[in-house]
Amino acid sequence: ERVNYTDFIHHVVDRFELNLKEDITITRDIPNRNYYVWIDKDKIIQVLDNIISNAIKYSPEGGEIIVQVVEEKHQLLTKISDEGVGIPEKNLDKIFDRFYRVDKARSRQLGGTGLGLAIAKELIEAHDGEVWANSKEHEGTTITFRLPLMQKKRGHRK
Ligand code: ATP
Ligand code: MG
Repeated sequence: ERVNYTDFIHHVVDRFELNLKEDITITRDIPNRNYYVWIDKDKIIQVLDNIISNAIKYSPEGGEIIVQVVEEKHQLLTKISDEGVGIPEKNLDKIFDRFYRVDKARSRQLGGTGLGLAIAKELIEAHDGEVWANSKEHEGTTITFRLPLMQKKRGHRK
């Protein structure tokens, strides 16, 4: 369905803020204009849930999470950054594999099955998108996903 992604992402972040129990700030860097994408809303909500839950889970107390939306060549990038423990460079590709978890001891303490990002990747790719990670150990992580942007005039309407 055709979705106003600007409204959509604000709603998703609003809901996270309302339920946030941790001492963490979520900052938005979202342009003040409408972007339209063709998505299954429930599925992209699941993607955002998985990525933002990780950002919260791996953030330190008092940490800041930034949700940024950037337009780039007919694509819409969504970037979720945190100031958490980070991910070692050599493990960056693997975090999207099923059941993969960095540092078993640390992960066991924090709980989880290692499926969140694998599911997110599957759902994003089903939308002709792509998802990837950048990280610096002990500084933080950024997960970025890209979705095709609908053309302003030529895009079909429904
Ligand atoms: P689940 O999401 O199934 O509850 P999980 O969070 O461990 O479990 P994924 O979301 O797939 O699994 O993430 C895989 C692994 O990648 C995590 O175990 C963690 O080691 C690492 N990881 C993911 N996001 C972050 C992040 N924002 N900061 C640091 N490490 C991360
Ligand atoms: Mg997870």
